[in-house]
Amino acid sequence: MSRCIFCDIVEGKAPADIVYKDEKIIAIKDIRPQAPIHLLIIPREHIPTILDVKDYGLVGRMFEVANMLAKEMGIAEDGFRLVFNCNRGGGQAVYHLHLHLLGGRQMHWPPG
Ligand code: 5GP
Ligand code: ZN
Repeated sequence: MSRCIFCDIVEGKAPADIVYKDEKIIAIKDIRPQAPIHLLIIPREHIPTILDVKDYGLVGRMFEVANMLAKEMGIAEDGFRLVFNCNRGGGQAVYHLHLHLLGGRQMHWPPG
């Protein structure tokens, strides 16, 4: 496997602003935030895209962590957005599964 930036972050080989970690998941601040709060919820395991998921319990746990962080960051009541980008047409740039948590501003639709 070629070098994966999120594997490097999970393994502590690359720096990141880590806001949450447990045995299966970490959450970091996005390096190019698209909203006042922009976190990435990342499984420790290298799974390229949402299409490659086998353990849907892990995905459920990612949503649970996102909800917890949205409450912790104070954006739950006002509202927030959770996004998985998948493959090129979906706008995915990093091929290690991650859930975007965006909030702290008004979101628009369609997202573009
Ligand atoms: P994607 O388009 O793959 O869904 O989103 C990848 C996200 O990862 C982007 O929002 C991008 O800003 C973020 N990102 C890419 N490289 C790094 C990095 O090295 N550190 C952090 N914290 N975020 C990154
Ligand atoms: Zn990886």
